[in-house]
Amino acid sequence: MKLPFIAGNWKMNMSRTEAVAFAREFRKLYEGTDVQTAICAPFVHLESLKGIFDGTGIKVGAQNVHFEDSGAFTGEISPLMLEELQIDFCIVGHSERREYFGETDETVNKKLKRLESTSITPILCVGEDLAMRKAGNEKDVVGDQLEKDLAGLAPETVADMTIAYEPIWAIGTGETATPEQAQDMCAYIREKVSRLYDDEVACSLTIQYGGSVKPSNATEIMAMEDIDGALVGGASLKARDFMAIIDF
Ligand code: PGA
Repeated sequence: MKLPFIAGNWKMNMSRTEAVAFAREFRKLYEGTDVQTAICAPFVHLESLKGIFDGTGIKVGAQNVHFEDSGAFTGEISPLMLEELQIDFCIVGHSERREYFGETDETVNKKLKRLESTSITPILCVGEDLAMRKAGNEKDVVGDQLEKDLAGLAPETVADMTIAYEPIWAIGTGETATPEQAQDMCAYIREKVSRLYDDEVACSLTIQYGGSVKPSNATEIMAMEDIDGALVGGASLKARDFMAIIDF
C-alpha cells in the first residue's frame, strides 16, 4: 500500500491573515505524521505557505495554471512562475474550472503536457454530473475525460501523477458518494489507465476521491482498495478538521 495522499483545495477562500494562522496551526498539528499532504491555495498565498511549511513534509499546490510560459494572457499564471516559487502540485481540470471558466479536455491536456517538463506534479480532476450518473453514463464520461486529458502524456508522467475522482454532485453538497460508488469508479480509473498505458503505470498512479470528504467519513472512504487519498474542499479550511481527515 502506498502512503496516502490527502490534499486540501481551499478554492477562493481564506484571507491572508486566515491563511497564515491556518498554516502556523497546521504545521504544529502535522508534526510526526507520515501521511503525505498538500494545501492547494489561491496564488497570492502560495509564497507565504511555502515559507511557513519550509522544513516540514507539507507540500503546497496551486489550483490552476496556464499552458503558455508568458505572453498576453491577462489574469493568468505561468508554470514558470509556479516553478520559481517551488510549488509542488497543481490542480488541473477541477470541475468548477470546467463549468465556470470554460476549461475543456483540450486545455486540460495542454496544461498537463506543459507541466510534464516542470517539477510540478498535477492533480487531474475528473468526474460526472448528476444527470450523467442518473443516466448510468458515469464510466463513459470519466473514461472519455481520461482518454482526452491524458492523450500524448509519457508513461512516467502518468505514473507519478494524481487523479482525483470528484463526482460533481458530491462537491460542496454535503452528499458524499458511498464508499462503494467511490471505489467502483476509482477501480475503473485504474483499469482505464492500465488499458491506456500498462499495469505498472496504473498501480503507481495515486487516485484520490473528492466530494464532501470530512472527518466523519474519511475512514470508510480511505479503507477502499483503489482509493489512495482524498481531495478535500470545505473541510480543509479548518486546520483541526483537515488534520482529523489526515489522521483518518
Ligand atoms: P468539497 O470539495 O470537499 O467541499 O466537496 C471538494 C473539491 O471540490 O475538491
